[in-house]
Amino acid sequence: EPAKKSNFIHLQIEEDLKQGKNNGRVHTRFPPEPNGYLHIGHAKSICLNFGIAEKFGGKCNLRFDDTNPTKEEMEYVDSIKEDVRWLGFDWEDRLFFASDYFDKLYDFAIQLVKEGKAYVDDQDAETISTQKGTPTRPGYESPCRNRTPEENLELFKKMAAGEFDEGSHVLRAKIDMASPNMHMRDPIIYRIMKAKHHRTGDKWCIYPMYDFAHGQSDYWEGVTHSICTLEFEVHRPLYNWFIDQLQESDYRPRQIEFARLNLTYTIMSKRRLLELVKEGHVNGWDDPRMPTITGLRRRGYTPESIRNFSDRIGVTKVDGMIDVSLLEYSVREHLNKTAQRVMGVLDPLKVVITNYPEDQEEELEAVNNPEDESMGTRKVPFSKELFIERADFMEDPPRKFFRLAPGREVRLRYAYFVTCNEVVKDENGEITELRCTYDPASRGGNSPDGRKVKATLHWVSAKHAVKAEVRLYDRLFNDEDPSGHKDVDFKEFLNPESLRILPECYIEPFVKDAQPLEHFQFERVGYFNADYDSTPGNPVFNRTVPLRDSWAK
Ligand code: ATP
Ligand code: MG
Ligand code: MG
Repeated sequence: EPAKKSNFIHLQIEEDLKQGKNNGRVHTRFPPEPNGYLHIGHAKSICLNFGIAEKFGGKCNLRFDDTNPTKEEMEYVDSIKEDVRWLGFDWEDRLFFASDYFDKLYDFAIQLVKEGKAYVDDQDAETISTQKGTPTRPGYESPCRNRTPEENLELFKKMAAGEFDEGSHVLRAKIDMASPNMHMRDPIIYRIMKAKHHRTGDKWCIYPMYDFAHGQSDYWEGVTHSICTLEFEVHRPLYNWFIDQLQESDYRPRQIEFARLNLTYTIMSKRRLLELVKEGHVNGWDDPRMPTITGLRRRGYTPESIRNFSDRIGVTKVDGMIDVSLLEYSVREHLNKTAQRVMGVLDPLKVVITNYPEDQEEELEAVNNPEDESMGTRKVPFSKELFIERADFMEDPPRKFFRLAPGREVRLRYAYFVTCNEVVKDENGEITELRCTYDPASRGGNSPDGRKVKATLHWVSAKHAVKAEVRLYDRLFNDEDPSGHKDVDFKEFLNPESLRILPECYIEPFVKDAQPLEHFQFERVGYFNADYDSTPGNPVFNRTVPLRDSWAK
């Protein structure tokens, strides 16, 4: 892998280390909410957080930010763990859940209440929201704001005991209703939710808000650099306010924000991805068209390609849009170096070699990967009846078409020179077969008399080839920014041609027992990997990417 680039966060950490902060410790965390599957944007955050731990000899926690029981599930927890590991990172014994801190958070809330820094508000949500004011107009204080600590303590305990209805009471931090920062205007820190939590069950009927759980979790875990996306920049004063109330020593976590990843032609919000799954626009979270890690894996992406992509795009402070072709480039680059080459014909046209004996067959030697000699060679069977790609023949070729045509000679890769002598058609004029002759002296792909041909075609032996289903995937959306249109739903931009199924392709027998996720380059066609739907002898392949960027203008 190429050397990792330094980014502005690395520089800030180096500065902190220089100043001797936190006794030279570097500790990060990746804090997903288990309310969906991880996507390529999360991969950027994973690579960044775990990458920092690697670079500075520090640690990175995996922490589930599970404070909203109505949206979170164990299925998501499991998938997130699998995806982080698959990407190549290891949290070792540092697996945490914000829900582990529910007791501590409750105690901390009690402390704030006792110190007169939090109060119970029993106004309705709309009133509270109106009182907050606007960014240009200060808010005004709730009539509940001056309750005594004793009153608040009693009310908060009743909230926790389930004595009030959902929405009837909240606990708020008492900060500053006139602050220019809306998040500092007495933010809600606890709400009543009579919901079963995926880990704590029915123990709680009050749950902490994100802002009240996140920084404290960082603090209790000893995190030194809490890296999050730019929209949390405005939350930073509140993050710091809570830490101020907790801090007991010189140790202090520091929040640093970076620009989230946005990709062209891609939706990157769990809520919208869930909508695609629920409404059946895709076949589940791991549909190879999804930008989820599990979808990319099934599509044929490798962990290396995603890590390289993540490094290549860098880390900045300005929101922008990355061209999805850069992601496609990264997987092409990695698979070019690593993928086993095979020949596969997606749109078969039969070729009969008229001067090749009926009952003869032979094996020809083929290179497994021209980029990696250590991958060796394999044998490819050849016989009288072959398939070539329909698009590699034209009966009446234009001037720049150099592939097969009547009377023309081309090379069959690793095999022989062949010349097309006759075109056989059915009653509708469809070409059903080509009749060719071969030059036995050109075995291996070169003619001893030095005569040249202008094209080399891939092919398979009809009787040896494995029949396979091939799924051609393309971008899920046909608009660069599907969620960026004000009055148009993103689903209006679904690409109707994002999946084309070819039920009858012929691939050389090498792939007969390909295992799910095994990668191949089908020579001249693209990169493919075996799908989970493969059965022994009946492989199904997903196209990861074509050999070249077909969207490039
Ligand atoms: P979504 O809106 O897609 O649900 P989220 O931010 O709510 O995303 P979390 O599970 O809270 O999802 O994210 C976990 C971590 O991943 C957070 O630190 C978050 O900042 C980061 N993250 C999420 N989306 C992106 C993205 N597009 N680019 C970079 N980091 C991201
Ligand atoms: Mg979040
Ligand atoms: Mg979210």
